[in-house]
This record gives sequence, C-alpha cells and structure tokens, in this order.
Amino acid sequence: MQKDCNKVWQNCLEFIKDILPDNHIFETWFLPLKPLALQDDTLTLKVPSMFFCEWLEANYIGELRAAIKKELGEGGRLIYSTAIDSSTVGQDVTLPSNDRLATQNNPTAIPMNLETDMKDFPNPFVIPGLRKVKVNSQLDENYSFDNFVEGSCNRLARSAGYAVAQNPGKTAFNPLFVYGNVGLGKTHLVHAIGLETKQRYPDKTVLYISAEQFFQQYLDSVHNKTTNDFLQFYQMMIDVLIIDDIQFFANKQKTQDIFFQIFNGLHSAGKQLIITSDKSPAELSGLEQRVISRLKWGLCADLQMPDAPTRVEIIKRKLRKDGINTMPEDVIEYLAYNVSTSVRELEGVLISLLFQSSINKSDITIELAKELIDKFVKSSAREMSIEYIQKVVCDYFSIPVSVMLSKTRKGNVVAARHISMFLSRKHTHNSLATIGAKCGNKDHATVLHACKSVQNSYDTDRRFRADLDEIERLINE
Ligand code: ADP
Ligand code: MG
Repeated sequence: MQKDCNKVWQNCLEFIKDILPDNHIFETWFLPLKPLALQDDTLTLKVPSMFFCEWLEANYIGELRAAIKKELGEGGRLIYSTAIDSSTVGQDVTLPSNDRLATQNNPTAIPMNLETDMKDFPNPFVIPGLRKVKVNSQLDENYSFDNFVEGSCNRLARSAGYAVAQNPGKTAFNPLFVYGNVGLGKTHLVHAIGLETKQRYPDKTVLYISAEQFFQQYLDSVHNKTTNDFLQFYQMMIDVLIIDDIQFFANKQKTQDIFFQIFNGLHSAGKQLIITSDKSPAELSGLEQRVISRLKWGLCADLQMPDAPTRVEIIKRKLRKDGINTMPEDVIEYLAYNVSTSVRELEGVLISLLFQSSINKSDITIELAKELIDKFVKSSAREMSIEYIQKVVCDYFSIPVSVMLSKTRKGNVVAARHISMFLSRKHTHNSLATIGAKCGNKDHATVLHACKSVQNSYDTDRRFRADLDEIERLINE
C-alpha cells in the first residue's frame, strides 16, 4: 500500500511539473509535499503547514485536481495532513480539499472604531487636492526580480513575494512580512515585488515608503492639521502598500496607532501590505501587541546571508549588469568567500575594488581585494568563515566542495572533511554543532571525533603534518 501511494504521488508530481509554468513554483510548493497514505481513492498528503495548505488550495487546486483525476480517476480525492507543531507528532489535522478559489480576508477583524470612523469619510475623489493625485510609487527599477539572485537563503521570501505580485491582496500572504539583518536584500526584494506588480497590473497603485518617511509624513500632517487627508490617502488610494524597516515605529505610539488603522482599512479592503523589518515579529520590541499580531497575520519570511556560491553569483550578476567582464574568476571567488557579513558589504568591496583599479590603472588582483576587505569590512565580523576554510582545503586536495559535503567516505574526501572541521574549530567561533551542520550535516560528536583524529595524525604522521601546515598557511594568506 505504502509503495502505491508513493508511486501515485510520483506520477502526480511528474504531471504537475509538466503543466506548471515555472519550475520554481514546483520546487517551492509541490516538492515539500509527502504522500502518507492511499486508501480507496483517497490520497493523503503531508503538508508542512496549515498555511501551505491554504495556499495550495487557493492557487493550485486546478493542477492538483487534474493530477489526482488522472491517477485515481473521477472518484479520486485528496486529503491534506498538517502537523500542528513538531511536539504533537501523530495528532495531525486533516483538511479535506475543497474548491475555494482564494483565501478571503476575515471581514470581522475590522475594529469597531475604524468602522465608525469610516462613516465620516468623504469620498476621496471629491476632496480637492487629492482628486488628481498621481502617486509616485518610489520604486527603484534596479531592484528588480531579474537582479535578485535566488538561493536557499531567500527562497521562501522570494517565491512568496513573486506570488504576491501575481495576485496582490488575494493570497494568504497578507501582509507579507520580510525580515532579516541589515544588507541582506529586504529593500531590494520588496521593490522587486512592487515592480513586478506594476508590470502585471499597471492600474494598481503601488507605494513604497520607508517607515521613517511615513513617520515624517504623519508628523507633518499633525502639524498641518491634515491627518484626515493622510489617513484617507493611504486607505483609499493605495492598492499595494510597502513599508520598509518597520522597526522604526518602535516606541512611537501615535504612529503605530495610525499605522494600525491604515493596516486594518487596507487589509479588510483586500489590499496588499508588504512590510520589512530587521527582526522577526516576536523579537520586535517597542511595538504594541495588537500591531505585532497584525504583522503575523500573513506570512513571515526571513532572509539569511547567502552562502558562498550564491555570493559568487551575486557578484557575477552585478558585474554583468554593469557590463564589466574583466574581473578574474579567482578574485570573484576570493571576495565571495571572504565577505560573509552582508550582501551590501560585499557590493561595497566590489565597487571600491573596481574604483581603485580604475584610478590606479592597476590589475584587479587578490592582493588588492584583500587590502580592501581589510579596510572596509568590520574586523569583528571578518572572522574567517567555515566556507572559506572548506574551499581552501578542497582546493588543496583537488576535490569539489560538493563532494566533501556529500556522504562519500573515500580517503581524501574524509581527510578533507576532517581537516575542514578541525580548522573551523580552530579558526572560527562556531559551535561544534554549527560546524557539523555545515560540513555535510554531521552532529557535534562527529566533529569532536574528527578534531581528535586530526590532532592525532598531526602528532604522529610527518606527511600529514606537512599537509596541514601548508593548508593553514594558505588559509591565513
Ligand atoms: P536590506 O534592505 O536588507 O538592508 P538591501 O535590499 O538594501 O538590504 O540590499 C543590500 C544590497 O545587496 C543591495 O544593493 C541589493 O541589491 C543587494 N542584494 C541583496 N540580496 C541580493 C540578491 N539576492 N541578489 C542580488 N543582489 C542582492
Ligand atoms: Mg533596507
């Protein structure tokens, strides 16, 4: 029976993959689904979350239904099973699949005071001064999806953002809350969503605004006694509102109040909200609980620092966009592997490197790159990265990093893996668990064992010692 359900789902996947416009959607929304059981003509799928399930139902029910029909015939049925959380394994909720076209926003969620306020609102189109307002979207064309390199660091946020742009206000991602450390692409991504929305729906009014600008506008409106206009502008004119760096609202009570009203008004009218922050909603301090709870209504997706290969791609994409093809490959790799703080810093070093070499009419070399990294990247954050160590070790043994990260136990590969762990332990501040996770998903005990074994070989084997000394020299170069 188990085999059958796997097979059936496998066939469904193949079918769905063929009919979807884009492989990306397939990987994000279909690959994570796991077949659990097949009873009579009912296939049960394990879905990562309730939200995931709503999204599938809202967007891909047609594809799912067609696949099920093809595999199981007219009577085929699909049931989703969602683990509520990992501690309640075995207590899954099952949700029968249905025909809902889209997940609707809950209209009862509008607070009463807003409803009463709403009654007093005059029609914005008869307000002098607002009548012919052409809203400047403040979107930057450079921050497009095309220029945004995808990686596992941003996959969820990116694909949710893309989905929002295809269907603003109509997805379960409302608000879409994107958070992450500074310089990891939040602003870029939300611009990309805005641009893509404009591309698809030229008639929709999109507005990008930083939380600081919003705050200033609000202060001005209080000063000029035009707060009503301010409120109406946001509630009536905007279809997609993007507010960047909402952590700026911390401890600004009145601004939070007005934001809360605008949020409710837009959300209940089916308008899209996109919000960024440098912290997750749970970690945002100085924001009212009711505001935080709104932020969690839709999807919260984080951005992580891209891994080194993605960083290589980011540099290449940027160079290509600027029409530069003179940067040697080894310098690109050196930069990518050595700047692991933020994409912004990576770009900063890249720009100064190009600048320096052009004013001095000198070649772009690793030496110059190193000099600039030393100068520009914060020293506290410039600790050697595990990825860089792995790269040097693997280059030394002439094996690809991907092989070292695989399960292979061939002689050199095991040595490279163990030496990478040993040197990461010695030269970085990462925990054994982190080192293990990054060196082929090993646990901390394996790392500890590897470190001991390397030390042992170093103490007893002259050739091994020479190798290790040379590798250490290379990583410190
Ligand atoms: P944040 O708003 O999170 O502080 P930004 O959006 O300003 O970060 O990004 C900093 C810089 O890094 C920008 O120039 C942006 O284009 C670039 N960047 C970040 N992530 C990516 C990515 N995945 N692909 C291409 N460029 C990126
Ligand atoms: Mg930003």
